[in-house]
Amino acid sequence: MPSKQRNVTSIALLHPKMTWLFDCGEATQHQILHSPIKPRKVNAIFITHLHGDHIFGLPGFISTRAALEGTTPLTIYGPTGIKEWMDATLRITGTYLRYPLQIVEVEDGQTYEQDGFRVTVRSLEHRFPAFGYRLEGPEERGALRVDALKALGVPSGPLYRRITLEETFEFDGTVYASSDFLESPKPGVKLAVLGDTMPCAASIELARDVDVLVHEATFADREVEHAGRFGHSTARQAAVIADTAQVKKLLLTHVSARYVDQEEVLEQEAREVFANSHLMFDHRVVPVKG
Ligand SMILES: [Zn+2]
Ligand SMILES: [Zn+2]
Repeated sequence: MPSKQRNVTSIALLHPKMTWLFDCGEATQHQILHSPIKPRKVNAIFITHLHGDHIFGLPGFISTRAALEGTTPLTIYGPTGIKEWMDATLRITGTYLRYPLQIVEVEDGQTYEQDGFRVTVRSLEHRFPAFGYRLEGPEERGALRVDALKALGVPSGPLYRRITLEETFEFDGTVYASSDFLESPKPGVKLAVLGDTMPCAASIELARDVDVLVHEATFADREVEHAGRFGHSTARQAAVIADTAQVKKLLLTHVSARYVDQEEVLEQEAREVFANSHLMFDHRVVPVKG
């Protein structure tokens, strides 16, 4: 549930080519008003599970997106039931969207392509159907080998930019392969955004070697049994997943409102296991790389 300091769950992934949301808890659209995110630019929403703290903001957000001149398609990924719930909500409330809305009901083990990213879905352990998403971006082209271009006599200018974007280029009547003048490609970004879950093997699989793992940390050590009973994790358990999966950075979310004045204990407990753990707050922006 929300507190004065922390709203329920929604996480945005901003990329030059796209804006994605993960979950859309109540009042997500209000929080977005205080952020650089433009609702009409959001082109995909990934729902981890159908608990209210993760989806009650969805109808409001998608209606507002239409009101704010969102005309481009929106795809919502989520568990079975999301389509029925959305269809009924839109129909009963007479909500008309002026953009194409596609709803994809995901299944354990499936992969999807979205904006050039490969999205892998696995079932987690939450005592309720819940999923985690692994996102793998396309390889990034290597940097320009200016020395090689200079040796060939290619002057700097607009052609340099074309070489980074196009497969071949022409200079002095000869066609060259751009790849001969670029460093080797860099691996694409990798992220894992998990829904509510206890520690499980699927989490490790999704998180393997990612740049950023977003993992819930509902409770502190002292409530580890409580966490298990309700299908949640402690901050330390999230850190064990991060350490086992050898991720680069761990972002802790979904903190119980009971820790409102003592949240730093969660970060401390996680850092004892995995040093690069960070407790997230509303509106905090974190670079995926670096
Ligand atoms: Zn839940
Ligand atoms: Zn939750």
